[in-house]
Order: sequence, then C-alpha cells, then structure tokens
Amino acid sequence: MEKGEVIEDLSKIMEERGFTLSRLNDEAYIAKSGSLSMLIWLPNEDYLLIDDPVKFVEEMGLSKVDGIIIVSYRAFYLADEVSKLIDTVRVWNGIHLNVKVYAVDIYRLGERLEETLNLALTTFSSKVSSINEPDGPCPQCGSQMFIKYRHAHKSLIYEEPVIEEILVCEKCMIKIHRVKAQ
Ligand SMILES: [Zn+2]
Repeated sequence: MEKGEVIEDLSKIMEERGFTLSRLNDEAYIAKSGSLSMLIWLPNEDYLLIDDPVKFVEEMGLSKVDGIIIVSYRAFYLADEVSKLIDTVRVWNGIHLNVKVYAVDIYRLGERLEETLNLALTTFSSKVSSINEPDGPCPQCGSQMFIKYRHAHKSLIYEEPVIEEILVCEKCMIKIHRVKAQ
C-alpha cells in the first residue's frame, strides 16, 4: 500500500470517528477530538534508529499528546522501541512522558485502526465527551453506570453503521465499550 493511500484512508477513518487531523511533519499528524490529542506516526523506515532520544521526543511533541499511534508494517516492533525510548528519557533525562503507545499494522489498516480508536476513546472518554446518562447497573458492583460517550460511525469491523457508547461505573471505575447497530 502506498503511503499516500494509507494517509487518505487513515484521514477518512479518523474524521469518521470525530477527529480533525493536521500535518506535523513528513511522517506525522496530530489528531484531535475534544481535548484528546494523538500523534499519528507513519515512519518512513521500518526500524528505529535514534541517536538522540530527547530530540525525537521534542520533534514529535511527545510531551504534548496523550497517545502515539504507530502505523507501519512493523508497528508492534516499533511500538516496543518507542516504549523503551520513553523509559530511556525518564531514566537518563528525567523527562516523564504520560503517553499511551498504540500499534496499528498497515495490513488491515481499517480494522486495526478501529480497534485502536475503540481502546483509546475508552481510556480517554472524559476528554472527548461530557454526556452523563444513567444506563443500567455495573456488572461488577451493581452501582448505576453512566453513558459518558456516544458517537455514530460506519464500522469497518462490522461493515455497517453503528452507535458506539462508553459506559463508566464511577464507584469501581470499570468501563464498558459498547457497539450496537444504528
Ligand atoms: Zn462498579
């Protein structure tokens, strides 16, 4: 898959999920929804050869984002390397980054990105939405659960329009990601 096509598909999927995309540099985009900010990195190389980790952190703006989504044929390997780099700058440079690292394999881009966004939106639901609607008891403690996020989109996994909801129990903090047909 050519990079231009990947970026086009990726932009469409992100916009469908309520994100706006802006270009950071030749290899990276910033995706925003509400106060959630994600770095999307499409590395030109399939390996990580970084001699200056601090420079990488600065150039990618890793201290300003909540997560990094790595899109590559070797995304899982690169995600592991980026996680190590985050540890390195903490230990050696005292830079504490609060960044979740996500891997999206280009092969099956649509499905993989959808799963990653399901996960990221569940983690950061309070940054993307402020709704608060009661909906049934918590399966763990029986307290009232609340719908904290709702968004309609065309699912690439289910191949139909769906409504996505995130439910939260404020007592035990359990979160449920729910998808149903529109
Ligand atoms: Zn609960």
